[in-house]
Amino acid sequence: MRELTCIGCPIGCALRVEVKGEEITVSGNTCPRGEKYARAEVTNPVRTLTSTVALEGGSIARVPVRTRGEVPKGKLFD
Ligand code: SF4
Repeated sequence: MRELTCIGCPIGCALRVEVKGEEITVSGNTCPRGEKYARAEVTNPVRTLTSTVALEGGSIARVPVRTRGEVPKGKLFD
């Protein structure tokens, strides 16, 4: 069993996820977004990456950047 905190809203429901083969059971969520998040987190976790990029010759040293969409968690450092 995995325990996760839902990031869907500030309530932060404590989720419990059981994976048995193809079967995924989610509990602790108080709305459907929590179940969707938990299922994605145990099958294909993704994140929006935010960072800063240094500028050469710019009027400021760095600018904030973020990915256009979600990126597989395992590819974040790529
Ligand atoms: S399960 Fe629903 S209510 Fe609970 S934190 Fe996630 S989005 Fe919010």
